[in-house]
Amino acid sequence: MKKGKKLYEGKAKIIYATNDKNLVIQYFKDDATAFNNQKKTTIEGKGVLNNRISEHILSNLSQIGIKNHLVKRLNMREQIIKLVEIIPIEFIVRNVATGSITKRLGIEDGTVLKEPLIEYCLKDDKLGDPLISEEHILAFDWALKTEIDKVKKMILRINDFMIGMFRGVGIKLIDFKLEFGRIKIDGKNEVILADEISPDTCRLWDSITEKKLDKDRFRKDLGDLIPAYTEVAKRLGILHEQSNVSAVNVTKLSSVKRKKK
Ligand code: 5GP
Repeated sequence: MKKGKKLYEGKAKIIYATNDKNLVIQYFKDDATAFNNQKKTTIEGKGVLNNRISEHILSNLSQIGIKNHLVKRLNMREQIIKLVEIIPIEFIVRNVATGSITKRLGIEDGTVLKEPLIEYCLKDDKLGDPLISEEHILAFDWALKTEIDKVKKMILRINDFMIGMFRGVGIKLIDFKLEFGRIKIDGKNEVILADEISPDTCRLWDSITEKKLDKDRFRKDLGDLIPAYTEVAKRLGILHEQSNVSAVNVTKLSSVKRKKK
C-alpha cells in the first residue's frame, strides 16, 4: 500500500490517498483543540494513544456487527480506512448530562439521563457546529430519513456495547460524539461508522472517583492528559499494565516504528 497525497487535514487527523481508490490512510496528530479552535496546543503522544484506543473500539464494534471504516492499523499513528462520504453531522450521545447541555438547558451537571439522548450538530467550524434538529437535517438534505433511522439504531447498539465495555474496566461512559459516512458495498448504498472513538471524542469518568480520563483534562486545564489516556488504554488491555507510557515513551515507540518502515 503506497501513501499518496494529503487529501484533507482536520484538527486532529490527516487523510492521505493510497494507490487503492477505495482506501485512504488516517493519520492521528498530537494536536489538541477546543472551543472551536480558540484553544490549541500539541500534546506529545496523544495521536499514538488515540490510534490504538480507536482501533480497539472499532474492531470490537465490528465483531458485534457494527460496520465501520477501519480496515487495519498500519503503525503507531496510522490506520487504513475505507473512503466514505462523511455525513455532515456530529451525532452526540449522552448518558449523563455534562458539558454543553448543562449550560444550554440549565441541567444540573452529572444528572443521569433516563434514556440515552441523541443530539445532532451540523459539522461546520465556521458556525461553531450548531445544534440542529432532525427536521433541519431533512429540510436541508444533509441526510435521508432512512439514513437517520439506520444511524439511530446503530448508535443505540454502539452505546450499549461501549457502556458495558467501559463499565467492565471501571469507567463510566458519560457522553460521546460519532460520525457516519456513506459508502457503496457490493453496489448497495450503506451508512457505516467513521472517524474515531477515543478519549478525544468521549467523556470517560472513573467509576469510583469520577476522575476525568478524557479531553476535558485539556479543555478544563486539568493537566495530565497523557497519563489519563494511558490509563484508559491500560484498562482496556491495549497496553500492558507494567508499561509506563509517558509522552516521551510514546514518542520513542512511534519513531522506532517509523524507522523500521
Ligand atoms: P459537548 O456538546 O458537551 O461539548 O460534547 C459532548 C460530547 O461530544 C463530548 O464527549 C465531546 O468530547 C464530544 N464532542 C462534541 N463535539 C466534538 C468535536 O467537535 N470534537 C470532538 N473531538 N469531540 C466532540
